[in-house]
Parts: sequence; C-alpha cells; structure tokens
Amino acid sequence: MDSLRLAPPDSVFPKIPCCRCGDRGRAWDRIAGKTLCPSCMELLALGEGEPIVERTDRRRCAVCHHLGTLRYLTFPLRSRRPVEVDLCADHIRALVGRRLGPHAFEQLRRQLLALDLATREIFLLHEAFYDTSGRALQPAGDWELM
Ligand SMILES: [Zn+2]
Ligand SMILES: [Zn+2]
Repeated sequence: MDSLRLAPPDSVFPKIPCCRCGDRGRAWDRIAGKTLCPSCMELLALGEGEPIVERTDRRRCAVCHHLGTLRYLTFPLRSRRPVEVDLCADHIRALVGRRLGPHAFEQLRRQLLALDLATREIFLLHEAFYDTSGRALQPAGDWELM
C-alpha cells in the first residue's frame, strides 16, 4: 500500500475533539489516531506539550522508506477525504515542526500531486511554511517523540 494515500471512505469520523484540550472547532489533524488541534500541535512543535508515545506500525516512511512509522492524518482544504501519510519519527517531527528539508518536501509534494492535491491544501505544508523549492520558512524548535 502507498505510504501517502486517501483514507478509505467513511473510515474516519471527522469531528473528534482535540485529545489534549478538548477543542472541537473542526476536523483536526491526527497523529497515530490522536486528534490534535493547531494550538496543541504548536506546543508539540515547540517541545512544550507531552511527547507522543505510540507504537510504530510496520510500514515504510513516505519520505525515507524507513521501516517503522506513525500515521499522520490530515484533512486537505478542498477535499472531503482525509489523507493518511506513514512517516518515521524523524519525519513526523520535521513535519509538525515545519522544518522538512527540500528533499522531504519534494517527496511529499510529488505523492500529493499523484492524488491531485497541492501542498498548499495541507495545513502543515502550506506556502506560508515553505517556499516553492521546499525551504522551511518558519521552522519550530526540535522536540522529542517516543
Ligand atoms: Zn488542543
Ligand atoms: Zn522518514
């Protein structure tokens, strides 16, 4: 199965409150099934929230093909089907911290394009965070995961 794919139809119940603060404003991103609102995601990116401790899946990272991943799920702006991405711990950290390297950004951009999605439709890959060559514009600090 592809490391970056559309979630199966009706497999995801969209409005689950944030697992940390209970905010239920809209359909938030999820890491390993845990729903995180943008504020709690930002705390995580800054290394201030509780680290995420989850067992990894035996799947390949969408960026580096490392075996052992966490599933990142996000709701693209114009699509009703969420996108699932298998990412290793390093690349989950880099994605949440908005500091993927140009190569990693390009890997995700290419795989999104195959699904007819643009990076700007994915909140964490938005053009406010990366320039067109995938250079990180607003990286957040390093943080621990697992
Ligand atoms: Zn929250
Ligand atoms: Zn990786």
